[in-house]
Amino acid sequence: MAVLLDELGARSTEVSARPRAPPVAGRRVREMSARTGDVDAVVVGAGVAGLVCAQDLVAAGLRVRVLEASDRVGGRMRTDVRDGFRFDRGFQVVNTSYPQMKRRMDLRGLRLRPFSPGVLLCTPHGRLRFADPTRTPKLAADLRPGRLGSLRDLAGLAMLTGRDLLTPPRLIKRAEDRTTRTALADAAIGEALVETLFRPFLSGVFLEDELETSSRFFHLVWRSMLRGTLCLPADGVAEVPEQLAATLPEGTVSLGTPVEQLTDEGVLTAYGRETAAPAVVVAAGPAAAAALLPGLDVPPVRSVTTYYHAAPETPLDEPTLLVDTARRVLNTVVVSEVSPVYAPRGRALVSTSVLGADHGPGKEAEVRAVLAELYGTDTGGWEPVAEYPVAEALPAMTPPWPLSRGTRHAPGRYVCGDHRATGSVQGAMASGARAARELLADRRS
Ligand SMILES: Cc1cc2nc3c(=O)[nH]c(=O)nc-3n(C[C@H](O)[C@H](O)[C@H](O)COP(=O)(O)OP(=O)(O)OC[C@H]3O[C@@H](n4cnc5c(N)ncnc54)[C@H](O)[C@@H]3O)c2cc1C
Repeated sequence: MAVLLDELGARSTEVSARPRAPPVAGRRVREMSARTGDVDAVVVGAGVAGLVCAQDLVAAGLRVRVLEASDRVGGRMRTDVRDGFRFDRGFQVVNTSYPQMKRRMDLRGLRLRPFSPGVLLCTPHGRLRFADPTRTPKLAADLRPGRLGSLRDLAGLAMLTGRDLLTPPRLIKRAEDRTTRTALADAAIGEALVETLFRPFLSGVFLEDELETSSRFFHLVWRSMLRGTLCLPADGVAEVPEQLAATLPEGTVSLGTPVEQLTDEGVLTAYGRETAAPAVVVAAGPAAAAALLPGLDVPPVRSVTTYYHAAPETPLDEPTLLVDTARRVLNTVVVSEVSPVYAPRGRALVSTSVLGADHGPGKEAEVRAVLAELYGTDTGGWEPVAEYPVAEALPAMTPPWPLSRGTRHAPGRYVCGDHRATGSVQGAMASGARAARELLADRRS
């Protein structure tokens, strides 16, 4: 893979936005600094936005260096392998309908493992399955009036779904932006269906449970779910950035290389090395980007914690997402049913996410008690095997949310990432591609 462990060979495992670096006094560091080989562009951050940007710049013939603070590529898309388990750093999925995924990834190479269509809603009266009846008619029995919602609600749902399926994204992007709650009310979807389906399910997508996220983003998400399939790469989400990084020329990415500041000539790393480049793209996540680019406007963020439990046997022999309509947890899934590689033979791995990233030690037991109810089994013997609080998981996309923002910050200085587009793999990749396009256009002019 085209990655170097560089500088101090640092092996940080932090996922926080701002990498920990030794204290630096600007002038002293400058005096000590050694200049590394000049390049046409430096990309700060090897999340999917930075990697896509680098990929397009390299394809255009530029000499590019990607400087990454942590010990691996991927940013928020990372998978830890421990004791025979695979733990994605926060539960996430990829969707086969994301245009950027289709355009640049070798989907076959990712060995995508699909979830079963739809979701299982765990209600106080038992489980209800919500699935698209046009794709899987036999899974859609619960869409009969009186189960998931009234005839009127279901008619509203059908209208909304048909419209989102057929409306091109460019029109969705131009539509008036409101909260998702308002958009659902305007689509004549009643409170009961909102509370049983939309609010609990979308809480896990937006990482907020008031439906205050941009309706434009909601319509794009709904459309992508209708058109694509939710999947996990067989070996974990990290396969996506790993595959992108592997397309870059050997030596392009330097790991363990936190950038401390942008200089007139390029960038200065926390270890006192300067890399000169006429163009710098900051692809570092919102808080870190704001620290490197004073004056940059970044949105607040949403946080989440994912708990992993090992069970002696699978509590549900289906690769499907369970959604708690009481919203005590966002969602839960037996990930080893999606891809058996996630757990060692004879164990099952259950991934459960809850809102927020600052829970006390009692939270895990609380979550396990909820899981007993949702899976209808005794979870007393389940072993808590990992816990991932992710403070900066997604940008808060409150309306009006533009869906795609320009990446030019100052002459020769660009910024990209999901916070400049949408909080998704698609959004991050599209923003990285946009930064490359704008940088190349500026070079030509
Ligand atoms: C728990 C969770 C669940 C999610 N679920 C989904 C989902 O189901 N579907 C979906 O599409 N998306 C999902 N997402 C969103 C998606 O993962 C992100 O939108 C995307 O990965 C963001 O990529 P990025 O490149 O913009 O930023 P990041 O991934 O944050 O990358 C930024 C990189 O910059 C590096 N960096 C920071 N500061 C510096 C510095 N000073 N110098 C050098 N490097 C630096 C960081 O170490 C990092 O590698 C989820 C995210 C999380 C966290």
